[in-house]
This record gives sequence, C-alpha cells and structure tokens, in this order.
Amino acid sequence: MSAPTYDLGTLHGGLRLPGEKSVSTSQEIQKVPIPDQLVLPIAQHVGEAAHPVVGIGEYVLKGQLLAEPYGSLSAPIHASSSGKVVAIEPWPVSRRFGQTAPCIVIECDGDDQAIEQAQPLEPFNTLEPDVLLGKITQGGIVGLGGAVFPTGQKLMQATTMPLQYLILNGVECESYISCDDLLMREQAAEVLGGAQILMHALRVSECYVVIESDKPEALKAIGTAMGELNDDRIVLKQVPTIYPSGGEDQLVQLVTNLEVPSGGLPTDVGCVVQNVGTAAAIYRWICEGEPLIARVTTVTGPGIKAPMNVLARIGTTVADVVEFSGGYSESAEQLVIGGPMTGKSVTTDRVPLVKATNCVLVLSDTDPLGDEQPCIRCGECAVVCPIQLLPQQLFWYACADNEAKMRSHGLIDCIECGCCDLVCPSHIPLTADFRNAKARIRELADEKARAERARIRFESRNERMEQEQLSREQELAQQKDTALKAGPAAIEEIMRRQKAKDKKDADET
Ligand code: SF4
Ligand code: SF4
Repeated sequence: MSAPTYDLGTLHGGLRLPGEKSVSTSQEIQKVPIPDQLVLPIAQHVGEAAHPVVGIGEYVLKGQLLAEPYGSLSAPIHASSSGKVVAIEPWPVSRRFGQTAPCIVIECDGDDQAIEQAQPLEPFNTLEPDVLLGKITQGGIVGLGGAVFPTGQKLMQATTMPLQYLILNGVECESYISCDDLLMREQAAEVLGGAQILMHALRVSECYVVIESDKPEALKAIGTAMGELNDDRIVLKQVPTIYPSGGEDQLVQLVTNLEVPSGGLPTDVGCVVQNVGTAAAIYRWICEGEPLIARVTTVTGPGIKAPMNVLARIGTTVADVVEFSGGYSESAEQLVIGGPMTGKSVTTDRVPLVKATNCVLVLSDTDPLGDEQPCIRCGECAVVCPIQLLPQQLFWYACADNEAKMRSHGLIDCIECGCCDLVCPSHIPLTADFRNAKARIRELADEKARAERARIRFESRNERMEQEQLSREQELAQQKDTALKAGPAAIEEIMRRQKAKDKKDADET
C-alpha cells in the first residue's frame, strides 16, 4: 500500500466551513428497525420513473423487484422488507422529485423474508465487463453522493470514452453530513471491493480513494483495508478540507490536475468518479446479492435530540428515523433533506428516506441570513466561486432573464454549491436564482427539442403523403394506358375501382 499523499493541485475559491460533524460521529452506525410501513417512490433517480410490476394486495419479499426501469435512463426499485403492497399512490416526497410523487406503500409483516436470488452469484472477475455493467443496472444502484444518476448507465456511457482513472469520492465536505465518514470507518473492505468491481467493469487499472484530512479514522480504516487487500492499483489520497472539493470536477482537478472542460464530464479527461457509498452498494449487490434497499444516513442538527448515523431501509419515513434518533429537540424549527448548503427544506416528516438521502438535518433557525439588500458589487461571491464564475454578473442576467448572457457567462457550469450565498453581505439568494434560471434554460431547451421533433414528424408525414399521391397517379396512368388498349368497358371498371379506393383512403384519413 502506498502512503497517502496530501494537497494535490489547487482549487479556486471554496470555503472552510464549520464541520459540525462530531455530534453525529461519536457512536457507530445504528440500525433502524423494520418500520410498520415502507413508502417507496418509483422515481428516486435522475431520468424516467420506474414502472410498477406489482399490484395492490400482493405479498412481496425483501429484495423483490417492485418497479422496473423505463426508458434509456432509469433504475429499478426493490422491496426493502417483506409485506403486503397496500397502495400505489401519490405521497409527499423530498422537493427534488416534486411535491408529491407516486409511491409503492408496503405494510411490513416484520419477518423480513428475503427473495432467493434467481442467479447464483459468480465471482465478478469471471464476468465480461459488459455483463457486469448490466448486472450493476439490475441492482437499482444509483450515485449515492447526491447525484442519483443510475450507476449502470453512467458506467456504460463512460466506457465509450478512453478511461484512465477511477476516483472514489470519500470527500464529504458539507457541514453536518458524516455518513460516508462512518461508512468508510466501518465498511472499508466493501468500499475497496466495490473499487475492484468498478475497475474490472471499466477496464481501468488506476484507482484513487480520496478522503479529506479531517477524517483520520476513515483514512486509517481505508489504509488498513488496503494493506490487507494488497492491490497496488488502488492508491489512497488525502486532500485538504475545503468546501466544495467533493464536487466531481473539483475532485478530478485536485487528484489528477486535469481540468474538466466547461459543459463537459470527468470522462472527457479519462476519469470516472463514484461515491464510496455507491462502491459499497455495488459490492453488496454483486458479491452478496443484495440490491440497493438500505443506506447510511446522517440524522443530525440542533433540532435532533440524539444525532447519529443510521442504517435505514429505503422507504422508511423521516418521522421514523427521527424518532429512532431520540426525536425532535425543543429548538427544532426547520427540516432539511441533505446538508445546509445543498439540501432542500421539506414541510412534513412523512417524506420517505430515498436512495439520495444522505442527511436528515433539523435546524433551529429558519432565517439565519436576514433580509435581502441590493448588490454592492463587492466581488466576494466571485472570490469564493469554485468554478471561477462571476455570480454578481450572472445574478444581473438572471434578473433580466437574459438566457444568451447567462449561457455565455457559464451559468450551466454552476454546481449550485451555495458558497456565493454564504459570503454575500447583501444576503442575495444567488444559488436559488441560478437554480431557477438553469431550470428555465432546461425547460426552453426541452421545448425547443419537442418543437423540433414535431417539425420533423410533420415534414416526414407530408413527404410520405406526397410519395403516396405520386405513386397513385403513376398507377392510374399505367392502368389508363392498359385500359385504352383493352377498350371502354375496361376503362369504366378501372374508374370504378379507383373511386372506391380513393373513398376508402379518405375514410381512413
Ligand atoms: S457578494 Fe453579493 S453584494 Fe457582493 S458582489 Fe456578490 S452579489 Fe453583490
Ligand atoms: S453556487 Fe454557482 S455561482 Fe455560486 S459559488 Fe457555487 S458554483 Fe459559483
């Protein structure tokens, strides 16, 4: 095992945030008991919602397929415990997926009976990489770092590019969140097992496991597991604790000194980035046959009585995990799913814990910033922007709804990290404005694409009708020619047949 290295490359901007992590890291990961009810949204990933394959009243086993992927970008959903499907209905969800979304509701029987795997588990390195990628897709694995991109599809897309590095992201730079830290401390062998599977699937032979300097226990646990594994293709890298060094593009730059081009992906510079939790989930699916039905989540904040990291089944409601963590404290004011910088507020704890839920944060202050004031052009936001954008300028164009200028000033590269908000003395909610502006740009692009598809459909229909008309005329001319040679009775018969055919065509149209 090579010694961890430190401080590779430099990042522009960023912030040193208060960690606030020790409150949730003082004990081991605690297992949340099987709840009475599981609520499983059929869309827990980027892309199309999955399609339910079970009906109301059906008894399902743990690990059973509940909804199959639909379209080219989608992921299956599996039952997190055994029980009866009692409803498939809209349910409140984290705002990322809308206000409510269709969910499969299971009344658990408490037996936790698991489905027998249809296929015997084979050693992953005996499988062809393409077969392995297909298997990863079937496990419902999505990016657990927050992106929730279906992992199988992400890896398949990556293999169309020349690749050099696999980077495992153990950089958990946002305040309060500590689930990856605890996962690396307690499941280091699974994380590295996942790295080996990913390297085989991607046909790469260099892997970096990247961890921040403020996680000495995780660094030690991964280092020890690497020593036991003795696979010198995997290298441990320690990086400084700066927010947002865990962003994919920032991590690539920190580790390899390669710059992901504007609007591009890490694969453009030969890198694939996966979260450490995703790697462990891949290991559990490929080597132990357990699809993605549970995850480690941090339940923390001043509004929680006993902050901790929990291992909870996907579909457990936030109310259940909060209750398991001692319940709300008297100062609880605001419920956030995710961290304080990138999380989303929710108004009810009926929302279920989904594959993306890395943190349930309960804050005591709903408005820590104060009233918004006009921009004083101090430039602080530009100093901290890790993408080197000019947020004050972008804000101006966002207010004017000037799409062309927003694009030319790189809005689409904004990673919505929230650094600019935090330093703005005028308390302007810059990130929210940029998020909305990006959504509008995406909507416009979708509208344009829809209009273009409609235009192509219209033109090809016209072309087809013209072709049909032409061939009808040619056929008629040929028949007339034949009839002229055959005499008047034959002409009449042809005219009658043609009239009947035209009437039929008109009726069908
Ligand atoms: S930090 Fe705020 S006040 Fe300063 S330039 Fe940026 S938007 Fe304007
Ligand atoms: S939210 Fe966007 S504009 Fe603001 S600092 Fe982060 S990347 Fe830059």
